[in-house]
Amino acid sequence: MSLVLDDVTLTYPDGDGRLTALDAVSLVVPAGTLAAVVGPSGSGKSSLLAVAATLVTPDRGRVVVAGTDTGPLTPAARAALRREHVGIVFQQPNLLPSLSAAEQLQVMAHLSGRTPASVRGRAMELLDAVGLAELAGRRPHQLSGGQRQRVNIARALMNEPSVLLVDEPTSALDHERGAAVMDLLARLTADRGTATVLVTHDRAHLSRADRTVTVQDGRLADPVTVTAD
Ligand code: ADP
Ligand code: MG
Repeated sequence: MSLVLDDVTLTYPDGDGRLTALDAVSLVVPAGTLAAVVGPSGSGKSSLLAVAATLVTPDRGRVVVAGTDTGPLTPAARAALRREHVGIVFQQPNLLPSLSAAEQLQVMAHLSGRTPASVRGRAMELLDAVGLAELAGRRPHQLSGGQRQRVNIARALMNEPSVLLVDEPTSALDHERGAAVMDLLARLTADRGTATVLVTHDRAHLSRADRTVTVQDGRLADPVTVTAD
């Protein structure tokens, strides 16, 4: 299922006035496609992700997640939709130091009330998908930066999200590891049918995306509909 931003404008308070962080942005990301969002610092990339994640409500426009227009929802309903349909990969993995890789994933699913047996199986399947099956018992300090980022990605997929939102996943990685993480995200997007939006200022790996979208002063040059390669 897709992610749709339709004519979205977001402003923040700024002194006596308002600062426009997103200016009439329209973006359609169908299931199974990967959109890379690039633009200079301060152009609105993180704001776009926050709006897509329904963490921030725009002043104007619609955000449709997996077929649901999120505008009319109560905060509780929006949180439930987020738990069920949105996977978020932040720049910093924020893994819990005392938990193994498998347990980081299982915690996510317990929050959404699944049964323990299926949770363990799904955690192992996802760790396998990101190439970490053998390291499932390791804690964060026993993993490299790239491995921690892969746990982070697997964790975001735990609840089978329709929409996967990723903020600067390669910024802390060297070129080769960055390329591997981008390959992984492209493959997971296709295999699991997520509508994936990836924010980056790293232009090195953009060929893996189905479409690269440039944000400039909160604007896209045109309304964008992503299509699979
Ligand atoms: P990017 O991620 O591309 O660096 P952001 O979306 O973080 O850009 O920011 C876009 C603009 O909105 C910037 O001018 C930034 O200073 C401003 N901004 C971001 N978050 C806030 C906030 N919480 N309050 C006020 N202004 C903000
Ligand atoms: Mg940012």
